[in-house]
Amino acid sequence: MSDCIFCKIANKEITSDIVYENENVIAFKDLNPRVKIHFLIIPKKHYDTILDIDDQNVMNDLFRAIREIAKKYNIDKNGFRIINNCKEDGGQEVMHMHLHMLGGEKLKTNII
Ligand code: AMP
Ligand code: ZN
Repeated sequence: MSDCIFCKIANKEITSDIVYENENVIAFKDLNPRVKIHFLIIPKKHYDTILDIDDQNVMNDLFRAIREIAKKYNIDKNGFRIINNCKEDGGQEVMHMHLHMLGGEKLKTNII
């Protein structure tokens, strides 16, 4: 999608602070971090929402990213939180599916 900011990040047309990449997925630091570790994990291919992902390889790579980032940033031991805001009621602002990965401290509720 030409006017999608996360597509531009995935295509490296816009710079971001990339923390992880695999074949189908890229992860980068949230521009407005709510907690110590706040990454966004996105499929490189554009999907509006989590409901639109129909490719098993993409699903696998999203979960692989979670595991590998957790190890890389040493949050596998203490844990972390994955959040997906979906559509209007979920509070989704960027319409390119993304998982928020939050950690590095004891998390409260209602962060995002
Ligand atoms: P959501 O409300 O779930 O759609 O979250 C969108 C998230 O994207 C917010 O946490 C923003 O801070 C973040 N965000 C928006 N633009 C950028 C950007 N260019 N680079 C990194 N994070 C961004
Ligand atoms: Zn996109």
